[in-house]
Amino acid sequence: MCGIVGYVGPQRAQDVVIDGLRRLEYRGYDSAGIAVVHDGELVVAKRSGKLANLEKELADHPLPATHTGIGHTRWATHGRPNDANAHPHTGGARRIALVHNGIIENFAELRARIEADDHVFLSETDTEIAAHLVELQVQSGVELPIAMQRVCQQLDGAFTLVAVDAEDPDRVVAARRNSPLVVGLGEGENFLGSDVAAFIEH
Ligand code: GLU
Repeated sequence: MCGIVGYVGPQRAQDVVIDGLRRLEYRGYDSAGIAVVHDGELVVAKRSGKLANLEKELADHPLPATHTGIGHTRWATHGRPNDANAHPHTGGARRIALVHNGIIENFAELRARIEADDHVFLSETDTEIAAHLVELQVQSGVELPIAMQRVCQQLDGAFTLVAVDAEDPDRVVAARRNSPLVVGLGEGENFLGSDVAAFIEH
């Protein structure tokens, strides 16, 4: 189980998220990624290997300066440590981006069920199904926190999940079951981390 960072506030989300991921590097990981919400769309960058690989990608292709973002350092349990399997994962419409620590034990049956409805999956992870399921909920008109609650009720396993909705740009939603999650409530800004080291400096 590796690193998660989430941020909403006046600071540049990319900076807070990448700094937070760097503080979680000590836990070990095989890939890293970030998603920010900008103008009703998700912008996602992810790279296998060290955080420096992701930082080089961001230097070459900077993300828009936005105020809502999530990031992840992955320790693969399901699927190879490559760019496609790195988190965040998105739903089919790229409206929801989601990161995950832990294991979703019943991912295969959930995935088979919605693949039968022509959903296309881009990774080998147990995580991507959660992004699709949360996205289906919000597309049906459900608010993001309720969508997350409903999806967690369908999942077996131990997990921390953090998600953003491209159409709800001022909110990051998280859930946990038998897996760590720390919430930092600030003045005009809030933080999420799998470990308080992610945002202790704030
Ligand atoms: N089970 C997920 C995966 O393999 C998350 C692993 C983790 O906790 O980093 O992608």
